[in-house]
Amino acid sequence: MEAANNTNGNGYGNNYECDIIRWFEYISENAGEVQRETLRRILEQNYDVEYLKKRLGDTKIQDMDACEMETLYTSLVPLASHADLEPYIQRIADGDTASLLTQEPITKLSLRVYPIREGGRILEFIYSSKQFKTKGGLTAGTATTHYYASEEFKIKQEKTKSFTCSPEEVISSGEYKQSTYCHLLLGLFFSDQVEFITSTFAYSIVQAFTAFEECWQDICIDVREGSLSSSRITLPKMRKAVLDTISPKPYLASKIEVACKKLESLDWFGLVPKLWPNAKYVYSIMTGSMQHYLKKLRHYAGDLPLVSADYGSTESWIGVNVDPSLPPEDVTFAVIPTFSYFEFIPIHRRKQDCNSAIDDFIEDEPVPLSQVKLGQEYEIVLTSFTGLYRYRLGDVVEVAGFHKGTPKLNFVCRRKLILTVNIDKNTEKDLQLVVDRGSQLLNKTGAELVDFTSHADIVNQPGHYIIYWEIKGDVEEGVLNQCCHEMDVSFVDPGYVVSRRTNSIGPLELCIVKRGAFRMILDYFVGNGAALSQFKTPRCTSNQVLVRILNDWTIKRFHSTAYC
Ligand code: AMP
Repeated sequence: MEAANNTNGNGYGNNYECDIIRWFEYISENAGEVQRETLRRILEQNYDVEYLKKRLGDTKIQDMDACEMETLYTSLVPLASHADLEPYIQRIADGDTASLLTQEPITKLSLRVYPIREGGRILEFIYSSKQFKTKGGLTAGTATTHYYASEEFKIKQEKTKSFTCSPEEVISSGEYKQSTYCHLLLGLFFSDQVEFITSTFAYSIVQAFTAFEECWQDICIDVREGSLSSSRITLPKMRKAVLDTISPKPYLASKIEVACKKLESLDWFGLVPKLWPNAKYVYSIMTGSMQHYLKKLRHYAGDLPLVSADYGSTESWIGVNVDPSLPPEDVTFAVIPTFSYFEFIPIHRRKQDCNSAIDDFIEDEPVPLSQVKLGQEYEIVLTSFTGLYRYRLGDVVEVAGFHKGTPKLNFVCRRKLILTVNIDKNTEKDLQLVVDRGSQLLNKTGAELVDFTSHADIVNQPGHYIIYWEIKGDVEEGVLNQCCHEMDVSFVDPGYVVSRRTNSIGPLELCIVKRGAFRMILDYFVGNGAALSQFKTPRCTSNQVLVRILNDWTIKRFHSTAYC
């Protein structure tokens, strides 16, 4: 279901920005109180829905004193995960018109303000996946898909007077390779007007510029002639929309051509400022699983600032980056207490008790936002305006500080994405650190790690971790052996170390896959309805199709000799 809460002071213009800052300072200062008020508004709006009635009966808890209401709500409504809501969502999709989760149908999405020149353009690498109708006649699709197709997306452009370079036909074609080519072509056609470059997740920008390295010559021809490569773009609607927009620009084409020849010799370092001389920054989600693409993004961005985007999900927007000038590695997100009613489950890692293999963390009772502690890790639980009640989001965050009374969160990882064979447990973040260590050796050779994922092989005994790497450049086998060894010893989880010493977990295996393997994975996900705009390479997978693709594309295997 779609996040939808536009009551939080989204708007445009300088006065409005001052108002937003004042409003933000007020709600941060009074975060605990604002949270209870938010919960009251959610309950007032939805008290009659079936899900809540089953749990609360006829007690109108929204009419109670704020603290009493909060306590009663959290004691009567249980924590829920996606599986608990699935039957309700299915009924809604099938056309059940009863008020199951929300009283009102949800239609709105948040808008944001960007500090740019009016009349400027935005080069946005955005993609809609296919929308489809459910049995009950609802339009279903990812959150970004709905957003790009929405009136709000158009209104945002009109109000800010800054337009995305690509027409709707390019964004919603459903063919990401063709869309990427057109995004790049149009971005270059309007290059002197482009104010900043963006995508939802950093992966899409890196993916687009990597494609550009291959197709820039064709793009130059199209800019010069005002044409569109017929072998690359076959969709009639997209062809028409792009051809209606562009016209021949021979001078610009020659300039791009000269720049690209030079850039090619520099391995495309500083591509963004060279080709988009008026761009002020690159804006995208660069934290969490996107951190891997930072290095490549920095390479393309040269000296242009990278601005890390806010923290949100399809279920609810969560926090904003209040220090946009900080490097993405140091960014934290101040929770906005009006977006949803948030609770935080304290979690403790490094569990030694191996009897409980069900979960990867020890949990304490959830606490409200006003009671979170500095340095503690939590899983986020939310009660939203969109019909989620005490819903476990599955994200692990750490409280890194406070903005007045509201916590500033560090995104740690997705909770369930863990590598585990037996008593060992490694999160996405642990894996990222291990891969960073291993790939440092790689960097010394001038080669580059394009992408990676992992899999816990428990079919063969003893079970062991497999890490798949796609590499750009040539690397000697000796170096790859060292990388494999380095990664094995870099897992510091005591469960892993003990298991490796006793050989109850076998040597780590490093598989090098052919160039293009991760592109195949992307194709697989997009082919199954994922939107490129929301795509995140899974850092750990047990999906059999994916594991088969990875194994089919493996060209070299190395086994760690650590712990021998
Ligand atoms: P989606 O399910 O596609 O809406 O993606 C939402 C998920 O993306 C969140 O639950 C997080 O796991 C991740 N995410 C969103 N924003 C950020 C961010 N700023 N930093 C790290 N991860 C994020």
